[in-house]
Amino acid sequence: MIVPKRMLIAKEDYREIVRDCIDASPYEACGLISGYRVDSGLTVVANRVYPARNLDGSATSYRVSPEDQIRIMLDMENEGFELVGIYHSHPDGRAYPSLTDVEQAFYPEAVYLIVGMKDGIEVRGYHIENPRLAEVLRNKTRSRLRSVVDVEILVKDDPA
Ligand SMILES: [Zn+2]
Repeated sequence: MIVPKRMLIAKEDYREIVRDCIDASPYEACGLISGYRVDSGLTVVANRVYPARNLDGSATSYRVSPEDQIRIMLDMENEGFELVGIYHSHPDGRAYPSLTDVEQAFYPEAVYLIVGMKDGIEVRGYHIENPRLAEVLRNKTRSRLRSVVDVEILVKDDPA
């Protein structure tokens, strides 16, 4: 597995994510981002944002609606792209993954984008290696494998 170090995202898509988070507030927003990989997988290029329903309807947690997820993933596949990112907001928190975020991160190849809204809008990307998933994959203890790595986000007028 290649861990992405960088995400390129168009200004328009970036704004759509922030807008969705503001609209969903005080609840957490969530959604998926499609795109493709370049630079041997080190860079992901986002090309479409798919807002989804937060099944939790909560200010402190999110769960992407399975119905939305199936529909979105099928659409990505039909378009010839893949899941490169998952975003959600922290309406009253910073842009740092919570323990739950780490434990529920099941897509290690996706960039987890978190929109902190506590002191203005702060968007940060992470590669999150889920401890339980890592445990299954590598048969190692969970505490050693939980990792959160910053991903640089580059907002461009035209990412291609
Ligand atoms: Zn979170």
